[in-house]
Amino acid sequence: MKRKLKEKLQFYTIVFLTITAVLCIMEVKDDILTYVMKNERIYDAEIIIDAGHGGPDGGAVSSNGVAEADINLSISDKTRLTAAFLGIRADMTRRDRNSLDYKPDDTIRQNKMNDLKARVKIGEGNRNADFVSIHLNKFSDPRYFGAQVFHRNDAASILLAQNIQGALYQINDKNTRSFKQIPNDNYIFERIPNTGVIVECGFLSNAEEELLLQNDAYQLKLAMLVIGGYTNYKYNR
Ligand SMILES: [Zn+2]
Repeated sequence: MKRKLKEKLQFYTIVFLTITAVLCIMEVKDDILTYVMKNERIYDAEIIIDAGHGGPDGGAVSSNGVAEADINLSISDKTRLTAAFLGIRADMTRRDRNSLDYKPDDTIRQNKMNDLKARVKIGEGNRNADFVSIHLNKFSDPRYFGAQVFHRNDAASILLAQNIQGALYQINDKNTRSFKQIPNDNYIFERIPNTGVIVECGFLSNAEEELLLQNDAYQLKLAMLVIGGYTNYKYNR
């Protein structure tokens, strides 16, 4: 009886400390973001966090009008912040709501291309960095849910996907999705030289996930798990 109680207390202490740590991080988040998000580019980045879409391209939009682009940025900010805490040199492609290399006189289509090319260029400028794109999913059937990782077709990318997918199961143990190869027509991933994955963090078409994905604490958990999977891939193999 005594031992059980002790175990229980230890368990609650761990839970309490974890929650406190998360709350502390969230509390000081904005200050730290300002500090770590200085504008200079890190040319020897270990990881490039690529917030999908931006500017005129909002990405997937839910039936309630929730757009993917802003949530991608929010999760990406937290992912970079988590990486910075662990001393991992992280850089981002897009750092605000705008698309990259936007030219006011260009058409929407041309600007979409300017944006994609700029992202490829960032990958090329950091050849040794791992390129992690953050996106959200959407499907016609609202039952589908769960984070899923897609990878380039090389051994390192497959291993990275496996590790991040494994970590992401911890946010929802009912998630049965497994990691998969990125389809061939992806402009960025067909061109960048980096080890690379796309993390589809959840489905905007699923009512429950649509709410969770907008929640700050949930986004931070996702970010921590992405970096958890990443460090597992990078330092434990
Ligand atoms: Zn997307």
